[in-house]
Amino acid sequence: MNKLEHIGIAVKNLDKSNELFARLLGVKHYKIEAVESEGVRTSFFNVGGIKIELLEATKPDSAIATFIEKRGEGLHHLAFDVDNAENKMAELNAAGFKVLTEKPFPGADNKLVAFIHPKTANGVLTEICQERKA
Ligand code: ZN
Repeated sequence: MNKLEHIGIAVKNLDKSNELFARLLGVKHYKIEAVESEGVRTSFFNVGGIKIELLEATKPDSAIATFIEKRGEGLHHLAFDVDNAENKMAELNAAGFKVLTEKPFPGADNKLVAFIHPKTANGVLTEICQERKA
């Protein structure tokens, strides 16, 4: 992993949480982006170079909706930047981690992403993300 890319936080209401986090962090979100395929709407904050991603479900069966139903709002995932998501997925699978998809898929913020099952990572849902080249 190259570096912590962002921290994902599950929220019920993105507009309300954008205001709350602006008050908490002292900066406003710099973008809002929907990822239709994942059933989420996201916003991003930049705090001293670390990104905070807020995630709101847009469908009742999206992963974020299920998470909030089970665990409530709060810390959802840590995302790490990698050079090549497919290579990293193979490496992590070989090392005993359970990668949740066969292939990386398009996420927010122009990234290719994949997730590692929290059961294989001490309860931490871990995202790997690769910058998509235009
Ligand atoms: Zn993320």
